[in-house]
Amino acid sequence: MLENIICKFGGSSISGGAGGAERIKKIVLDDPRRKVIVVSAPGKAFEEDKKVTDKLISIIDKKKKDTDYNPEHDIKSVFGNYAHAFGTVAYRFEEAFHEILNQRINDLSDGGREAEDAVKAFGEEASARIMAPYLGAEYVNAGEVLKVTLDGKVLSVSEELIRQRLGGDQLHVVPGFYGQTLDGKIVTFSRGGSDLTGAHLAAALRYTYENFTDSDGIRSVNPKIIPNAKKIDVMTYREIRDLSVSGFSIFHEEAMIPLRKGRIPVHVRNTFTYPSEGTWIVSERVSDADKPIVGIGYRDNLCAFNIESLGMNEEIGTVCDLLGIFKKRRIPVEFITTGIDDTAIMLKRNKLPKYPTAVDEIMQELQGYLGDDSSVEFDDHLSGVVIAGKGLKGRRGILAETADTLSNQGINIKFMSQGPRESSMVYGIESVDLGKAITAIYRKYLA
Ligand code: ASP
Repeated sequence: MLENIICKFGGSSISGGAGGAERIKKIVLDDPRRKVIVVSAPGKAFEEDKKVTDKLISIIDKKKKDTDYNPEHDIKSVFGNYAHAFGTVAYRFEEAFHEILNQRINDLSDGGREAEDAVKAFGEEASARIMAPYLGAEYVNAGEVLKVTLDGKVLSVSEELIRQRLGGDQLHVVPGFYGQTLDGKIVTFSRGGSDLTGAHLAAALRYTYENFTDSDGIRSVNPKIIPNAKKIDVMTYREIRDLSVSGFSIFHEEAMIPLRKGRIPVHVRNTFTYPSEGTWIVSERVSDADKPIVGIGYRDNLCAFNIESLGMNEEIGTVCDLLGIFKKRRIPVEFITTGIDDTAIMLKRNKLPKYPTAVDEIMQELQGYLGDDSSVEFDDHLSGVVIAGKGLKGRRGILAETADTLSNQGINIKFMSQGPRESSMVYGIESVDLGKAITAIYRKYLA
């Protein structure tokens, strides 16, 4: 743990029933090391509701489609989320905010992306402006400290600005999700981008990063598959990267980059069960000899082009040329496995072009390149089960044990892949076996 703490509160932490402001205040004031608070826009007020950011995006869309659009009703609906999240604390601001948002919506008529981003950023800006006085803190506009390019890349000048403006002993509140270009244009990040704000501020200040969400931390398996899967107490940046597949997307992926570079400890924790501990993500941890893996992730909806061509292994550049067929269509390849004279090129099904003949076209091109004595087949409905953990490196027998666990369930392994770091292994299986495979491996290593 570093000396000071920066906390980020996500949309669901702010909403989650009335009293959001009070809940956050209690947490913030509970530890004097908490010096910088980053807030998102409020989430949904009730199950069928929409998050503030979604409502703002829909206002932008309506305005684009219909020049006579009257946003009044939708603006009211946005303020409904604030009233639900912050209660009476929000009412004081309503009139002023109404004017600001209305003005920004009007500006959409002759503004381009910049005007749209100004509307989207309003969600977090309003949250921060409400929270700052309530916490007795100073509000700092994110654009003052986060300087970005037009495509949302944070510029290195930001580091010094962040340290100068936020490095003192006072409590500051900063809106998440956006920065400003050097000439003052508001630019929002991709969805979930308040994580990025928090990560860049924590890395520049060298503060521990507390990421408050509505879940208890990171679970060892996606709870959709194993509802009571255990929470992970500590994991490394490498481990979370290896598991950056379904079930581990609790955190914006790009946010890991500055945190990992700066070796900033991250604590993902639950606003609603505070002070219970969540999951720590750190650069190093001691691994438990009995627990070689930390979590099980998966990639579903994979497909493969299976290729067999006599003498292929002796040719120079064949795999490179085959991959070129995917590269020129801008289709990312997930894995390649090779045998003698055969290879499988695996990709995510949803990355294939959408038109109906796309698969046939690719098959024809592969076949054309390889010639008549070769075969090309398309294999669909595949999944990859990913096991990862520090303890895998150098450990004898884990491949055999896992294969045995799957075979006892009657599951056929279609491919297997492990990188030279030995920090993760991928087992390719038919998608219908996914739940069964994960449950069996979980019982063996993590239950
Ligand atoms: N409000 C933004 C979104 O919904 C950013 C965030 O919450 O992190 O994506």
